Amino acid sequence: MKLLEYEAKALLKKAGVPVPASSLLSPKTKKMPVLPAVLKSQVPVGGRGKAGGVVIVKTEAEFYTASSKILSLPIKGFVPKHLLAEELINIARELYVSIIIDKPTASIRLMAHRQGGVEIETHAASSFLTATLTGKNAGLVGEQLAEYFETPDQAFALQDLTEQLYDCFVSNDALLLEINPLVLTKQDKLVAGDCKMELDDAAAFRHPDWDFEATTAETNFVTLNPNGNVATIANGAGLAMATVDAVADAGLSPANFLDIGGGANTASVLAAFEKIMEYPDVKAIVINIFAGITRCDEVAKAIIAARQQISGLPPLSIRLAGTNFEAAVELLAAEKIPVLQTLEECIQTAKKEVSA
Ligand code: GDP
Ligand code: MN
Repeated sequence: MKLLEYEAKALLKKAGVPVPASSLLSPKTKKMPVLPAVLKSQVPVGGRGKAGGVVIVKTEAEFYTASSKILSLPIKGFVPKHLLAEELINIARELYVSIIIDKPTASIRLMAHRQGGVEIETHAASSFLTATLTGKNAGLVGEQLAEYFETPDQAFALQDLTEQLYDCFVSNDALLLEINPLVLTKQDKLVAGDCKMELDDAAAFRHPDWDFEATTAETNFVTLNPNGNVATIANGAGLAMATVDAVADAGLSPANFLDIGGGANTASVLAAFEKIMEYPDVKAIVINIFAGITRCDEVAKAIIAARQQISGLPPLSIRLAGTNFEAAVELLAAEKIPVLQTLEECIQTAKKEVSA
């Protein structure tokens, strides 16, 4: 799962890494930031600077023009839901640091470059500094960075930074953590100017607090018929397609396709229910989960939360199997919510609701 810049920077900040002061804006809450500011489109792709998604504004008039423009500007197909307004930093140098999992050697690798910024891709691989990071050598690697960047005054700051980045990477089960640019300001401070972070979806089970825009992304949610009478929630693209087909084969009209994915948690499933509520003609919801990485009890908690929080929720036909099935059945039984044995039964129950 790819985080947006503001989400990644929140994790950096928590780990002690200096980030610019900022405020998060959306089309609904477009309050004036402290000026001058840099406005940044919050889309899950790089190259925003070159695409016009990063704009410095000095006046209120410039803010209004630029914020409206960025909020409606698609970048590589993504339209931002949010704008990050950051205090302007006085850049002396733009550096580059990233940490990745190196699969062939099963190790954590740091990469750095003296010339960070939007042209990073143009540098020869041989010009990067690379080092294997462990829990013990982060300080040493920080010293190496100071030498490579030719910033001896920043040796201590880079030691701290390397340790903080390593901790942030490991504690968040990251696959990638990239700071480009790592800014050396004219005041001789190091600040993370931008941050890209990718987390390991397979580790979602030990991060019940994960609640990012990507976890509730609509990419796996497809409207099939806005006037459909049965909504579907399944996991895995294959099972989700089979569920839609089974609904259609029974002479019902599937409103949507939804694969809640392996990283599904209570928040993301609850978001799916809310999306389904936008369909006016849905009379039943078929839930078909074959849990591997997904956990049945997480889905059960979302079902219970949805029943409590969403008024007018259509009747649910639920079939669950796999990881933590027993715990899920127990949770649902306590709320008197039945779990069916087969998809066939779910479809028949939904059919009754539709013709009722
Ligand atoms: P990206 O293009 O998606 O990687 O977006 P970045 O956040 O990295 O911004 C692109 C470029 O905008 C940076 O490399 C900087 O040169 C410039 N930039 C971003 N924030 C600031 C800032 O606060 N001050 C100045 N002077 N330039 C900035
Ligand atoms: Mn960048």
